[in-house]
Amino acid sequence: MAASPSASHLRDELIVKPGTRVRLSRLDPAGTHGFDKASAKPLIKHELERLATLQDRLWAEARRSVLVVLQGIDAAGKDGTIQKVMEAFNPQGCVVSAFKVPTAEELAHDFLWRVHKRVPGKGEIGIFNRSHYEDVLVVRVHGLAPKTVWSKRYAQINEFERTLAASGTTIVKFCLSIDRDEQRARLQERYDDPTKRWKFSMGDLEERARWDDYQAAFDEALTRTSTPWAPWYVIPADRNWFRNLAVASILADTITGLRPAYPRPPDLPADLVIT
Ligand code: AMP
Ligand code: MG
Repeated sequence: MAASPSASHLRDELIVKPGTRVRLSRLDPAGTHGFDKASAKPLIKHELERLATLQDRLWAEARRSVLVVLQGIDAAGKDGTIQKVMEAFNPQGCVVSAFKVPTAEELAHDFLWRVHKRVPGKGEIGIFNRSHYEDVLVVRVHGLAPKTVWSKRYAQINEFERTLAASGTTIVKFCLSIDRDEQRARLQERYDDPTKRWKFSMGDLEERARWDDYQAAFDEALTRTSTPWAPWYVIPADRNWFRNLAVASILADTITGLRPAYPRPPDLPADLVIT
């Protein structure tokens, strides 16, 4: 099938419409929505150029912010997405935060405390590599908090995100979805490749063994927290090039909707010649 000249339909095709029930198992992680690798290449380049221009305006305008949340199981491609898509951005004005196993200090606070501190300020684009969603994913799968605690978090997350949105933060959430066998191949590759083995941990295999529990936890998180003010997009991520195209184009379309504009300069004398 010939590639479409534009990727603008991906936003509609990949969004989790608020109020609809998600089943990751019914979506195809290898889907490419009519694109092929060769024709995607110039489109990705085009989307990255759009992102660069949009960020420049957002930063200059300094009135609104954008928060990008990346979630996905181990080896789904969160790091690769940050590398390949966010390279469009000027590092000044772009803040990446990775959320790991909470420290003792973080655990001594409510689950949003460490997250709230990292949200982007005006003019900034914040990128979350994992996020507050870990608190309804890994925490649920491993029983790190009782159900009475984590089950209330969906509503708490929605309220938190509503607060951010009301203060000028546009939130866009990507769930990178890969097939079980693709994860196996990626973890094997990590183990085999000396330049990637540092990323491999035996814990990854324990997580992999809980595949179905994770899928169920993702299904519920996506179903209950895709809202008009902070929608989820499920990105078929078996093919890195399609993942990059989808994330870049949805992000560019989202920021375009904000119409960021260069601020009007202060009143200046006419025909100034600087000597
Ligand atoms: P990585 O992103 O591969 O460096 O791994 C970070 C690890 O931290 C993952 O196994 C996450 O599941 C874990 N993690 C992140 N947030 C939390 C949390 N709130 N509670 C427990 N584990 C977490
Ligand atoms: Mg890891």
